[in-house]
Amino acid sequence: MKTIGVLTSGGDSQGMNAAVRAVVRTALNEGFRVMGINKGYNGLINGDITELNYTSVSNTLSSGGTFLKTARCLEFKEEAGILKAVETCKKFGIDGIVVLGGDGSFRGARDLTLHGVPCVAMPGTIDNDIVCSDYTIGFDTAVNICVELIDKLRDTCESHNRCSVVQIMGKNAGWVTLEASIASGATTTVVPEVEFNFERDIVERFKRGMGFGKTSFIVAVSEGVFFDVPSNKNYEYMQKIGIHNAAEFAKKITEETGVESRETVLGHVQRGGTPTARDRIIATEMGNYAVELLKNNISNRVIVMKENHITDFDILEALQMKKPFDIKRYNMANDINI
Ligand code: ADP
Repeated sequence: MKTIGVLTSGGDSQGMNAAVRAVVRTALNEGFRVMGINKGYNGLINGDITELNYTSVSNTLSSGGTFLKTARCLEFKEEAGILKAVETCKKFGIDGIVVLGGDGSFRGARDLTLHGVPCVAMPGTIDNDIVCSDYTIGFDTAVNICVELIDKLRDTCESHNRCSVVQIMGKNAGWVTLEASIASGATTTVVPEVEFNFERDIVERFKRGMGFGKTSFIVAVSEGVFFDVPSNKNYEYMQKIGIHNAAEFAKKITEETGVESRETVLGHVQRGGTPTARDRIIATEMGNYAVELLKNNISNRVIVMKENHITDFDILEALQMKKPFDIKRYNMANDINI
């Protein structure tokens, strides 16, 4: 193996640049040429590729986003798209690729490996929804952003004796919401993985809090609660009680508890900004590990964090794993946050 390519695919996350930097510099140190593939799998299909050197990744460690750009590429899901990518690899002499992204990106890396281009993948998403890994690059930064913003909302809620319904990203998973709730002391945490009941989790908890003298409330709700997918335990219930979005949730809270409530949808602000030290460190370690695998002719692997150690799994095996929701910490948040 002489030339390694690197690409970022799917939704971006903070720390992707740190990961790419580690891949580039480790690969150069090992004597490889390095090719930056732009816009995810699109760049591989269209030949949008640039050679990278040590300084190509200077000053990227602390920046959010991905300087390689990212995209969702439908064409790559088809055999014809993969074959075009294989041709591009031959043209540019790329004989191994590090892919950074989520589940879909891993499938692409597996398909490419099966077509003769060895790939390894790394988990890059704020959602922490990659079942094979305890941690995904970007998660820590996203949680910290949510906490900072909820703290600000808390100040104004407290002044006005209000409730803030805060909608948090995470796709079908509630990991960002759970950690943000623990760290910001949200009264109620609503996630797709745990059955929610308006009377028990809002009305009763608010009453109890008011009994202790509480005057402001935060309700942290995961965006996935509003998605019509089988993994969402709350979709039908929410529809039944007339809550289709954060605004309707806030309205119902005002009506049923008498506490004036406003909604805030945090949105894409959670995906930007400078990565935390934790994200930069893990991204660097994973990037370094990825190149070591390719150097040792090991491919079709996904690099993961398991019990605070970086290790790797077969991609297909990794995609079939399960990551049970952390109900213990969810219950702890409910017990401590009044
Ligand atoms: P996100 O979860 O942010 O959408 P993913 O990492 O799941 O990100 O990336 C999805 C992208 O992965 C798709 O748009 C496509 O470009 C790429 N991809 C490649 N092969 C596949 C595949 N077999 N299934 C799904 N996505 C694939």
